[in-house]
Formats: sequence, structure tokens, C-alpha cells
Amino acid sequence: MKSHKLLMIPGPIEFDPAVLAAMSVPTSSHTDAAFIQTFGEALEKMRQVFQSSQGQPFVVAASGTFAMDVAAANLIEAGDRVLLLNIGYFSERFGEILERYGAKVTQIKAAIGARPDPQLVEDELKKGGYKAIFFSHVDTSTGVLNDVPTLAQLAHRYGALCVVDGVCSIAAEELRMDEWGVDVALTASQKAIGVPPGLALWMVSQRALEVCRTRKTPVANYYGDWLKWLPVMQAHEARQFDYFATPAINLIRALNVSLSQIVAEGIENRYARHRRMSHAFKAAMNALELDQIPVSEEIAAHTLTAVRYPKGIQASEFLPRVAQEGVIISGGLLPPIKQEYFRVGHMGNISFGDLIGTISAIERALAGLGYRFAIGSAVAAAQRALQEAA
Ligand code: PMP
Repeated sequence: MKSHKLLMIPGPIEFDPAVLAAMSVPTSSHTDAAFIQTFGEALEKMRQVFQSSQGQPFVVAASGTFAMDVAAANLIEAGDRVLLLNIGYFSERFGEILERYGAKVTQIKAAIGARPDPQLVEDELKKGGYKAIFFSHVDTSTGVLNDVPTLAQLAHRYGALCVVDGVCSIAAEELRMDEWGVDVALTASQKAIGVPPGLALWMVSQRALEVCRTRKTPVANYYGDWLKWLPVMQAHEARQFDYFATPAINLIRALNVSLSQIVAEGIENRYARHRRMSHAFKAAMNALELDQIPVSEEIAAHTLTAVRYPKGIQASEFLPRVAQEGVIISGGLLPPIKQEYFRVGHMGNISFGDLIGTISAIERALAGLGYRFAIGSAVAAAQRALQEAA
């Protein structure tokens, strides 16, 4: 028996033993030369993961919401117009944050399970006056994947910055920050980055840094002021010490181990592996004749799958049964349909065996609740999909 249940939620995820081991060493001084080296290496590797040699990486002790908060705090001044593309729960959050900083937010809200039509986005941007567009790459509540390159291109065509919440995508979904012209890409450690919760990570284009430098009003968030952190990040990348606030030393050690693993796998291989895993999991759900929240597989994320319960099966019975089988998965999150679906995360260093084990646990839970299907059919569909992709 495993000593813990397999954590297959859309973050936090299962963490690699080497990453966890890196956290459990005695904490050094933040001025220690070896730590400065580690921090600098981690910042350099972030460039490979975000595919950005030109951008500026930041790592700060916080969660993903903080990275969202400070993207708005640093770029927005009262009265600025922002276009928010809303695909679910975390898009709503971005809207609330933007309004806190005085943005005038216009929303394009996609139907549940859909993503915004680029034509509607262009029609809105054409009206002019937008400082930025904000959107999630993957919304964790719906499992919908946005089309970042198309949206980034539209933003730039109409002179707006492009800010991407990549909390549920970065290091798993394809993201080419420089090539696509993304101005801010942000995430948190506990998802595909593969490090326990506690670090916010983001990368800012030079263009967006310049917008921040030329603000008329001070950034209304002291701990999150990009320009307070900028000298610290630049110093560490140059293997020098600088201080603004104490870094999360042990988490940054773990981050460097995880980013080393990601870089060793190769970011393109990692995207492909996530696509394979996602395809196999979705094939399994199709074999069970369970619907998914995204309206088509083409717009479905590869980091998680959001699945509707069959008729007559309740979250309150199903999720504990899956847990009894040794696997933790999530319930729904989007308020209007919260009770109607469950979510399974399949990102990071999980094995195909973990994926198959999760599908098997779902089958057993469904069978135990009286859902009629050919037992083993979902596992077989996933195995076939993995085999075909090999
Ligand atoms: N955005 C997205 C897409 C997320 O999935 C999450 C976390 N589930 C957040 C933002 C917020 O991140 P955190 O919980 O680390 O603050």
C-alpha cells in the first residue's frame, strides 16, 4: 500500500521525491553564495520554461492569486480600460482584482465550456482605447484552453498589452512568450511547475516593464511592486546578492530541482507528454459515455479534464468512493454547475501508471454506485490511446 493517496486534482499535484527532498535541508542564509547560485539558476531556467529570453523573470513567496493581483497593480492606473476574456471562475477573479485597482473592465464572457470568438475580441479591440487584455490560458473551473497566440496577436494589433494567467498551464501547455508577444505570463509553484504551494512566478516583457516605469501614480501594492523586486531578480541572475524581502529559501531550492527536471525532459517533450496523457484520459471518459465541460476536445486543456456525472450520481457519493480507492480528485468549481461535474488533474511528473490507476479508481467508484458500463472499458480506451501515441 502506498503511504499516501494519489493526488490527482488540478493543483496542488504529486511532487517528485527529489523536489521534496530539496526542501528538507537546513535553511541557509539568504546571503549564502550557494543559495544565490541556486536562485540565479532557477531564474535562468524559468526563461526556458516560459520560452522567453527577453522577458524578466520574478519569483516571490506567495500564491498564484498574488501574481494576478500584482499584474493588475503594476499595469493598471485608475480609469484604464481593460478587456477581460471570461471563461470561468478564475477569469471572474481577475475581473474583481482589476476593478480594485480602478480599471474600467469590459468583459467578453464565453458560454460555459466555450472560449471567446476571436472575431468578437477583434470587434471590441477595434473600438480603441484598451490598455490591455487579460485572460486565463486554462480556466481550472471549466478545463477550457484559450488560444493564446491568436489573442496576443490581436492585442498587439490594437496597441494593447496581453496578460495571461497561466497558473493551470505553464510548464505543461504550449507557451512561447517572446514569439507570441505575451507581455505578462504568471503562474504558481503548485501546478505544472511541480513545487509545493508557496511561490508565485511570473515573467514580464520589456514593453510591460516600461509601462510600469512610466506610471503617473505609485503602485498601490507595496510587497508586489515589480520595481522593488526587479533589482533583486537581476542581481540573483548575475549571481549577486540583493534584498527586498526574505525569499522562500527552501522552496526556491525545490524550484531549482523541479525546473532542472523540466528542462532535462525538454519543454517540447513535456508539452507532448501532457497532450498524450490528456488524450488518453479523455478517451477513457468517452468510453464511459461521460460528457466533458469543454464543448470540444480541440478547446480542452491538457492539464486537467472536467467531466459531467452520469445521471443519478452525486458528488457527495462519488468523490469519497474514488478516495477509498486511493485517489483524490476534485469536485466542480464553477458556481452554476458546481454539483454537476468532477475534475481530474493530470499534470507534472505523474506516470502513465498513475493515470491508469486513476481511471481504474473512477471505474470502480462508478460501478459501485450502480452506473452500468463494461468494466475495464475506460482503462482499455486509455491504454489504446497511449499505445497509438507511442
Ligand atoms: N488562476 C488559475 C487558472 C488557477 O487555477 C488558480 C488556482 N487554482 C489561480 C489562478 C489562483 O492561484 P492560487 O490558488 O495559487 O492563488
